Amino acid sequence: MSFDLLERARRNIGVRLSLWYAFIFTLSTVALLALAYYLLAAAVGSKDREVLEARLKEAAAVYEGGGLGALRAWVRNQPPEQQRSLFVRLVDAFNDVAFVSAPDEWITFRNVPTVWAGYRRQLFLRIPKDEERDFTLASAVLPDGAMLQVGRSTDNRETLLNPVRRSFALVGSATLLLGFAAGAFFAHRALQPVRQIVATARSILRTGQLDARVPGRQSTDELGELVGLFNTLLDQNESLLRAMRESLDNVAHDLRTPLTRLRGTAELALQSGADPVATREALADCVEESERVLAILNTLMDITEAEAGMMRLQREPVDLCQLIREVIEVYEYVAEERKVGVRAELPAPCRAEVDRNRLRQVFANLLDNALKYTDAGGTVTVTVRDEPQQAAVVFRDTGLGIPAEEQDKIWTRLYRGDKSRSQRGLGLGLSLVKAVVEAHRGRVSVASAAGQGSAFTVVLPKAGEAGAGEAAGRPPGELTPR
Ligand code: ADP
Repeated sequence: MSFDLLERARRNIGVRLSLWYAFIFTLSTVALLALAYYLLAAAVGSKDREVLEARLKEAAAVYEGGGLGALRAWVRNQPPEQQRSLFVRLVDAFNDVAFVSAPDEWITFRNVPTVWAGYRRQLFLRIPKDEERDFTLASAVLPDGAMLQVGRSTDNRETLLNPVRRSFALVGSATLLLGFAAGAFFAHRALQPVRQIVATARSILRTGQLDARVPGRQSTDELGELVGLFNTLLDQNESLLRAMRESLDNVAHDLRTPLTRLRGTAELALQSGADPVATREALADCVEESERVLAILNTLMDITEAEAGMMRLQREPVDLCQLIREVIEVYEYVAEERKVGVRAELPAPCRAEVDRNRLRQVFANLLDNALKYTDAGGTVTVTVRDEPQQAAVVFRDTGLGIPAEEQDKIWTRLYRGDKSRSQRGLGLGLSLVKAVVEAHRGRVSVASAAGQGSAFTVVLPKAGEAGAGEAAGRPPGELTPR
């Protein structure tokens, strides 16, 4: 494995998690196996010791009953397989070895401290060939002062424990492998959403395609939430960028005409030379055109901001009836001039948490349109309906009406109806109305027929929170006007 690959593995969270998992899993298993082995070895050892004590007692009884000869005969009479592993030694009261019988393979000598008659003495003992191998020894001081020792090589115990050790080693290694494999599997599964986020971000950076999304994840855990938030962020970025591009296109398209006119008028003013009246007129036209350009720019900015969800709403409790009265007052003069009657059906205060200035803009645009597209003698009626969760404001006029095929298009930026061209306007009013109302989580709709007037209905949730629709137990899209 190259250094680069190792370095990448080291930085890979999945590999690190698997290693940690395998390490902890193996450590716990090894600790359990070690404990089991220790308990098993201790049980076997104590059983060994019990057997040896019994043999020592038997040998002591034989010696005490029949002396050294009887002890020799007892050893000789042991079955051959017992003899091969049995060690018997008698050391008399003068520390001389009176009798010894040891298994053939006990050839090495080692100094073994022995406690005898209350004080320590050094005795040489033959022990098994392999010094590493253990043996068990039991000693007893007999009534005549001699010390009898009976020993057994622990071959039997080893024979029993060896396979256990081997299987434990096998289980340990299998556990290590299993731990790593399981760790790798779970880490891989758990990190799947993170890899998908990385892949999506890479694909967006590489291709510039903003519509890539992390594949849907149903879970509600932290990673599911992360995926959801990441996708929402991408959605917002995409709509923001799309709105910016559209705005730029619209601005470029719509500013071309007034700017060309502006330049033409300015050139005219320059050509007019010494005629001050013509120059003044041209300059006044220039100011008018630049105001138009400014109005287009400001409205476009507002629409873009609202559509992208970036419009900052200064929400406060507002009496919608009062606000409408104020707007009607502003348009009183225009209505009189156009000879259009304005009626208001505003029964009681109707409070809603809205941005006062933005809503004033909305109502002003709707009233302005109603007056603009209604012939002399017509009427505009403004009605407010106060409902428990929402308020509905309807602007009804007896004007031109809007043909069915135009009704979807009127909300589009810069769209102007065929019959409306004779009236002043930028084609941005209804786009702004829609964007601002939707920024309030409300809905705006139109009911109209050519030649029979129009009714524009704005429905606003009364609760101020951005998620008012959800708070009321339904998505904002369900705030249908009645
Ligand atoms: P503008 O009024 O500047 O043309 P708007 O965005 O306010 O732009 O309206 C878009 C179009 O919708 C208008 O050009 C007009 O054709 C139509 N419209 C809007 N309000 C009314 C209305 N009250 N009656 C008839 N047509 C309307």
